[in-house]
Amino acid sequence: MGSLVAPAHAAVPERGPDCLVSRCVALTFDDGPSPYTATLLTTLERQHVKVTFYVIGPHALARAQDVKRAFRDGDTIGDHTVHHPKLTKISSAHVRYELDTAARQIASITRQRPTELRPPFGAENARVRALAGRLGLSVVMWNVTPRDWKHHNAALVEKRVLDKVRPGAIVDMHDTYRSTIAAVPDIVATLKKRGYTLVTVPQLFAQTGGLKAGEAYFHGPS
Ligand SMILES: [Zn+2]
Repeated sequence: MGSLVAPAHAAVPERGPDCLVSRCVALTFDDGPSPYTATLLTTLERQHVKVTFYVIGPHALARAQDVKRAFRDGDTIGDHTVHHPKLTKISSAHVRYELDTAARQIASITRQRPTELRPPFGAENARVRALAGRLGLSVVMWNVTPRDWKHHNAALVEKRVLDKVRPGAIVDMHDTYRSTIAAVPDIVATLKKRGYTLVTVPQLFAQTGGLKAGEAYFHGPS
């Protein structure tokens, strides 16, 4: 790992695709790293694609080598809490603990605090956004999901993503299912064939002012 990277307020990459011009899509993966993540990283490296991982803090600590590798590849690493609770159902002190502890765990690996939160179960509201904002986190939701947690079927996951995807889409998947990992090579190849540029979440918003702490985002510019 190199030197400390200055925490970006709005994580705007130095140079990258212009999603106001290109058809961009951001693939995101929650709940990992898992035993399948290394295989996914090999796929992404071969296909020269960057994605966003919303990791669970203890999973990141347990598989720190995967997190380091993803970070080195240019993938974005975001916060998906410590215990994966519904943040809307727990006290503010507890929300802060979940967000900040996972952020510290991630930073202990990447030397960079995450600037994005993916709330478990997509459970967020004004209070969660405000608490996230105070920790420098924007809330990143999604507008396409193959519901891969329900359908452990690579062909179905692929079809659902490809049917629903539009320019600016944020796609929610999980790198904890072998079937999802198996679907990724064809999803990426088909999206490229359709003229899409695959980007990280910060890249998706780079031309529209970047992600702001305390705000929720469901999709990028279309
Ligand atoms: Zn999750």
